[in-house]
Amino acid sequence: MNAATDIAARATEAARFKLLADYLPAWIALYDAKTQICLFANRGYAEAFGLTEADILGKTFAEIIGPEAAALIQPSVERVLSERVAVSYERELPAADGTPRWIEVHLIPQLGADGEPVASCVLINDITKHRLAERQVRESEARLDKFMLATVEGILFHREGITTDVNPPCCELVGYTLNEMVGRHVLSFIAPDELAKVKEVMRAGRELRYETAVMHKDGTRIPVEFIVRTLERDGEKLRMTIVRDIRDRLASEARIQHLAHHDGLTGLLNRAAFMDRMAELMRRAERKGEMLALLFIDLDNFKRVNDSLGHLEGDQVLTTVSERLLGALRGSDLVGRFGGDEFVVLLSDLESRADIVVVLEALLSVVEVPVKADGRALSVTPSIGVAVYPDDGKQADELIQHADTAMYRAKARGRATYQFFEPALAETALRDLVLEAELAQALTRNEFELFFQPQVEATTGQLSGAEALLRWRHPERGLLAPDSFIFVAERHRLMLALGEWVMREAAATARRWREQGITHSHGPMRIAVNLSRMQFHLDGFAETVKRVLVDTGASGQWLELELTERMLIEDIAHAPATLAQLRAQGLTVSVDDFGTGYTSLAHLTELPLDKLKIDQSFVARLPDDVGAQAITRAIVQMAVGLGLTVTAEGVRTAAQWQLLASWGCQQFQGELVGAPMPASEFEAWVKAR
Ligand code: C2E
Ligand code: MG
Ligand code: MG
Repeated sequence: MNAATDIAARATEAARFKLLADYLPAWIALYDAKTQICLFANRGYAEAFGLTEADILGKTFAEIIGPEAAALIQPSVERVLSERVAVSYERELPAADGTPRWIEVHLIPQLGADGEPVASCVLINDITKHRLAERQVRESEARLDKFMLATVEGILFHREGITTDVNPPCCELVGYTLNEMVGRHVLSFIAPDELAKVKEVMRAGRELRYETAVMHKDGTRIPVEFIVRTLERDGEKLRMTIVRDIRDRLASEARIQHLAHHDGLTGLLNRAAFMDRMAELMRRAERKGEMLALLFIDLDNFKRVNDSLGHLEGDQVLTTVSERLLGALRGSDLVGRFGGDEFVVLLSDLESRADIVVVLEALLSVVEVPVKADGRALSVTPSIGVAVYPDDGKQADELIQHADTAMYRAKARGRATYQFFEPALAETALRDLVLEAELAQALTRNEFELFFQPQVEATTGQLSGAEALLRWRHPERGLLAPDSFIFVAERHRLMLALGEWVMREAAATARRWREQGITHSHGPMRIAVNLSRMQFHLDGFAETVKRVLVDTGASGQWLELELTERMLIEDIAHAPATLAQLRAQGLTVSVDDFGTGYTSLAHLTELPLDKLKIDQSFVARLPDDVGAQAITRAIVQMAVGLGLTVTAEGVRTAAQWQLLASWGCQQFQGELVGAPMPASEFEAWVKAR
């Protein structure tokens, strides 16, 4: 190869090299090792220092980059040359227009054939972009740190489950210090029952918001909400969890729930909630073949408390009853209030009906609230109907209805008692319903009538009075005796209107008989009227009687009122005053069915009474039954001793008459004398005598 071709070839190679060098995304320069004069620079390098490629050649290192920068870099250059190793550093090199710029510089020694450095090669990368990105990351980290400190919410970072950082609110929430927390596995802070759920979220690396619970250092379980995100920090994937204490929220939610499901007054379950839970327990009982008992409880006398003492006092009674119910029942029993004075209880875990009876007895003995209404002692007691699952019904509605039916029967049986549902009651209940509807119309349709049964003097056999006995001429069922409809009338307060009708009719009849001379010649004959407990307990009963007398133009002397022992005892504080008012109007007061109640005669001595009517069940056992003889004789003799008139009811035989008369019984009523009969018949009967 000759010199010319050699030169040409070198030129081509140089041009090729320059082309490459100019288009490399780096700045390149070559300095002489001894003189530090620039031997080569690509376009980028020259321009970086504000020069052209032509200008830069022949200038020294210091002339190109400036004396200050050169002084800074000099040690690195010397190291390259003396140690013959490549050296790198980064420095700031603002652009010509002053904008910040960072460069990464590599100095590489070029060694000659003898191994001595002949030049140093400079290779520069513009790293401004990286620097800016880095700074941004640093800034956002600083922001995050600030945020972590400033927020009231707990924040926790973890890497693969190992806690790397937590903020103070998070520490406070779980009661550990930062040092105690960092390095520990996050699952160690989770409530045991929530572990599976949290593990699953972590395993799946999901980003979501969910509710769970953490454990405080002191063992308290704290319900929290987690908001989980994955983010990069220092080039690593970190999991960030925002931990939000939701105890307050749950508490207010629970309060709202409570309000929605509970009775505001007593805090017991309301109807809807009771039905819900009941359905749940019934499903469980069905699966396990268990027995349940539904108790339907209605309070006796409650209406009187409310009417006479007002709602505040009524509320107080309801609260007391509710507390006593809860006190007597197990925590697992459901207790609800359906409104008014209706309580319901669902008993579970029962072995037999005997278990239910134990609870019923307990409730009866515990739930009795004595109150003073208008200065009278009154007792609020429960009447309880019971329906058993599955015997009495498999559906909640059915059970409740049956327990309700049984409850009414308990009331009819005299209150403060319980009654199990019997299938026969269901039929009765339906009949009662029909009856109730019919009864409401019977008064306006004039379907009621009074029958009269004569009462005579033991000594003379003369007519002394008549008992008015109610009959209903039912359009389809014919003549009905009071036993078949009175309890329904009492249940629905129809008895008040009906009772007043009876009194009015009796008073009008008494007056008519006087006018017609039917009873005139026979002395002071009275018509006896049976009272319902509801009438007698009503405030202002004596005034009602007075009004009836005025309206009908009858005299009080012509009427007698029959009360039962129970009516008197139930209202023992109030009865004397009412009785005194009635007697002041000339009425005679007698105690009906005496001997069947549990009162002793002594109880009645303080009451202003005129007459005792010995119950027909005693009379019926005479003259043969020795026990009945002893009791009847004692009653008659004591009553006579107390100055009371004694009437024997249901006298059917002459033997009964004789025996009773021998003990001092003064009046007789019964088939032996005459059966109950319509007014016209009675009039004929009297005339015929
Ligand atoms: P009570 O007041 O004890 O009335 C006597 C009952 O015995 C009457 O039954 C009468 O028919 C019946 N009786 C009388 N003598 C004999 C007899 O020799 N043998 C038999 N087996 N029975 C006799 P009744 O009329 O069915 O009345 C039943 C109950 O209904 C009455 O018992 C009374 O408690 C109540 N009642 C009747 N009328 C009224 C009323 O107007 N208002 C209220 N609240 N209750 C009434
Ligand atoms: Mg009677
Ligand atoms: Mg009687």
